[in-house]
Amino acid sequence: MIDTLIVGFGIAGLNYAEQLRRHDRSFVVLAPREESASNLAAGIINPTVLKRFNSVWKSDEFLNYAFRHYSEIQDLVQTKIIHRTPILRILNNKREQNEWVFGCSKPFLKNYLNNKLISGDKYNGIKAPFNYGEVKKSAKVDNITLISSYQKKIIPNQYIDCRIDHTKLEFNPEGILYKGIQAKKIVFCEGFQSVKNPFFNYLPLVGSKGEMLIIKCNLLTEEVIFKGPIFLSPIGENKFWVGATFDREDKTTFATKKGNEWLLSKLDKILNLPYQILEHKAQIRATVIDRRPLLGIHPLNNKLFILNGMGTRGVLMAPLLSKWLYEYIEYKFKLPEATDIKRFENNYFRN
Ligand SMILES: Cc1cc2nc3c(=O)[nH]c(=O)nc-3n(C[C@H](O)[C@H](O)[C@H](O)COP(=O)(O)OP(=O)(O)OC[C@H]3O[C@@H](n4cnc5c(N)ncnc54)[C@H](O)[C@@H]3O)c2cc1C
Repeated sequence: MIDTLIVGFGIAGLNYAEQLRRHDRSFVVLAPREESASNLAAGIINPTVLKRFNSVWKSDEFLNYAFRHYSEIQDLVQTKIIHRTPILRILNNKREQNEWVFGCSKPFLKNYLNNKLISGDKYNGIKAPFNYGEVKKSAKVDNITLISSYQKKIIPNQYIDCRIDHTKLEFNPEGILYKGIQAKKIVFCEGFQSVKNPFFNYLPLVGSKGEMLIIKCNLLTEEVIFKGPIFLSPIGENKFWVGATFDREDKTTFATKKGNEWLLSKLDKILNLPYQILEHKAQIRATVIDRRPLLGIHPLNNKLFILNGMGTRGVLMAPLLSKWLYEYIEYKFKLPEATDIKRFENNYFRN
């Protein structure tokens, strides 16, 4: 018998696996080798909400834990996965410059924003007539390398390439049996696909589709992440991640003509260099009605747990959320109320 079955191996499943590994708990991951939101994400760790000049909820806690945690995983897999790349916000006019300077004086932002603007001439090929504001404590995690190297190097014998059929889970006094694997409990980390999970589909996952491009641009700097109406983020070999769209209506993972046109129109507003489009893809972010994560235990079955709802900030939040969930399950620590799925329990009993 193993301790835990983890369903899903995006950034949530990986971080939960890492909590179990650190605590010497036995586990098996069940997940199909398919593209997920985590594979498509830019992997940007940004503690600020630049549109509203605010910081992310509990940003210091999430950030400090995430930096330490990804550095440790980097040592473990012996592959570079975290890049401390600054974000440069392109300021479009005098008003945005003033907002930036004002933002720098807000107590919850002053550690994150550099109050000295960076000259718009510094980087060749970017249109920044009103200079740049710099986000100081940002980074970029290479999710694709992280997920594949962790799976191959750390859990090669604990990963099963499969999509689980929820109707085939059997419950017994020891816990859960799935296709011959007996576990004490199961943690679902299925991202937006959790809407198909019969145990947790009462939770208000609304989802938001994101389309992105990969472009090649030989003359653009790879030192920084540019933030205009979209992110333009280096991924190596003169390739850049461009995105993303937000669409709450379309819940398919098809890349669309509309998305492509929107991305290119925004890209052309900031980039003044020749480029070539290499990829155009889409995935659904697991966004929640109240914009807070979904952690906790099923209302009636104490073998079933969920780690989900990370919206646009999975890379920043997944490490600490995994720790919170682990401590909740194993030590009965209280979850922060804003993350606990108990807040939606009425939905379950109403259905
Ligand atoms: C275009 C785009 C850009 C983004 N950029 C960023 C960014 O820069 N920074 C950031 O922090 N976040 C970003 N995000 C958000 C980020 O991708 C998510 O917050 C995060 O990846 C969610 O991770 P997850 O593990 O919960 O879900 P997912 O990555 O969706 O993973 C879910 C996993 O569950 C598996 N699964 C589902 N159903 C089953 C089943 N029945 N059986 C077995 N396995 C199953 C899937 O195969 C997958 O492995 C972006 C998202 C998009 C779409």
